[in-house]
Amino acid sequence: MFTRQKVLLRTFVRWNSSITLSREVFRIAIVGSGPAGFYTAHHLLQKCPSNYKLSIDFYERLPAPYGLSRYGVAPDHPEVKNCEEFLDNLMTAHEVSLVNRDGHTVRFFGNVEVGKEVSLKQLESTYHSVVLSYGCANIDNRMNIPGGDLPAVITARQFVNWYNCHPDSYDKVRHFRPPPLSGVKNVTIIGNGNVALDVARVLLANPVDHWASTDISRSALNLLENSGVKNVNIVARRGFFESAFSNKEIRELLELSNSKKIRFIPIDPNVMQPMHESELTRVEKRRFGIFKKYSNLSIENPDKSWSLQYLKSPVEFIVDESNPELLSKTIFRRNRLHHDELTKEVTIVPTEEMEEIENELVILSIGYKGIPLEDFQALGISFDKRKNRVVHVEGRILENAASKHETDIPHVYKRGWYTSGWIKNGPKGVIATTMMDSFETAHNILDDLSNGVYSKVSIEAIKSLEEKLKTFNFVSWNGWLKVNKKELDDGKQIGCTRLKICDRDDMISIAHK
Ligand code: FAD
Repeated sequence: MFTRQKVLLRTFVRWNSSITLSREVFRIAIVGSGPAGFYTAHHLLQKCPSNYKLSIDFYERLPAPYGLSRYGVAPDHPEVKNCEEFLDNLMTAHEVSLVNRDGHTVRFFGNVEVGKEVSLKQLESTYHSVVLSYGCANIDNRMNIPGGDLPAVITARQFVNWYNCHPDSYDKVRHFRPPPLSGVKNVTIIGNGNVALDVARVLLANPVDHWASTDISRSALNLLENSGVKNVNIVARRGFFESAFSNKEIRELLELSNSKKIRFIPIDPNVMQPMHESELTRVEKRRFGIFKKYSNLSIENPDKSWSLQYLKSPVEFIVDESNPELLSKTIFRRNRLHHDELTKEVTIVPTEEMEEIENELVILSIGYKGIPLEDFQALGISFDKRKNRVVHVEGRILENAASKHETDIPHVYKRGWYTSGWIKNGPKGVIATTMMDSFETAHNILDDLSNGVYSKVSIEAIKSLEEKLKTFNFVSWNGWLKVNKKELDDGKQIGCTRLKICDRDDMISIAHK
């Protein structure tokens, strides 16, 4: 399928063959400093041919780097955050004001939002290549059903941002008001991916034993210490074998509950009956085994309980009349599974049967959402709203591609424009997959640079952007290192891994000290 595109690209390259590359410095902008951004940069620097150098600038909307590694990954998974070393190492080796070993340079412009403070058009005239790696974590995916806007229906993104100290959550004007957990006994989490399990762990695990030594936000810790939550139900619209969580994450939650007197209410055996046992994959068989082991363990006098429930779709959230800050219950429609014998596809079919679950709080964990940036239309960059991603082929962004994407019409690449990570693939995939996928994008950028395929830059435009940047309150890498040091030092004093600074202005003022 892609052969024709490759031929087109090669023709384009031959047409540009008069461009000389030796000893050139190519300017590359990376929008976003999450795993996709830093793994793209890492691969670019590792694999760059010796006949040219790279000058990479990161633009990051927040005063801190690392994206969802810092602001998504659960505080009790510090080993996952080791990926951040890739960015630290490449900054240490290439930051202009630090050591500059091999002629490549890298700069970090934190607290600069592309699409607002710096436009994509500006990037186009100042960089040979631009990589969009801005992720899918800027807005919420909500449910359009009665009661969906009630204060006690919140999203996992809001909850995660809050316990992870995301500056948006702690904004002085538009800050997130955390749910009054002291008055909440039953929580329903809708959706059963790994994020739902993170949220359940936060609500169920003991705040003192499990969370106090981590970098969880101190206001979240205080609220959890006074939490009245006794029961968490994780509810999904599809069946057991379509569960979105990974075996590793569910085992972790089951083991934690087993060791901490948190009762796992066994899954309804009816939903655990596979239609065709012989067709189960290895992963599914293993999942089956995990639940067999943990469902039979009995815990005496449990402090809390939790359950996994299947084949239920919410249809209405009902407010608590005596306290409108909370809910009284959620009404669900039951579904049944339909297996298509021919295609082997499994779909859900709504039934007429309804069910109520008592809950004071609902957390929607139904996926993150990607959005286009300002200027996309003007620049001919298409955004696939259904798949939540930029339209591209193997990381190369296509020009005016919306109508062409699914058809046989040859694609036209948008010269010098690339994408990596969640905004390339939609909001799915762990850090390891984000890394592999970013390497693909970086490989193609280097291929194109070597073949003379990049945007034309203007010296005047570069000067004008550099002047503009000087007027911003941006956080440089050195500035971030000051924030980092303070967080680590303060954390040490109170016996936790890091005392995160949640307030954007505080971070900026420490960075500028
Ligand atoms: P992001 O990490 O979101 O990075 C995007 C960056 O772009 C952010 O820093 C953002 O501030 C910045 N940005 C956004 N808009 C702009 C703009 N306009 N201008 C400039 N900068 C901008 N994976 C695991 O392997 N293990 C886990 O335990 C795990 N836990 C997770 C928990 C949660 C709650 C979530 C949501 C995901 C988790 N993941 C985990 C998945 C992992 O976080 C992603 O695979 C990875 O972060 C995606 O990287 P990214 O760089 O594409 O996006």
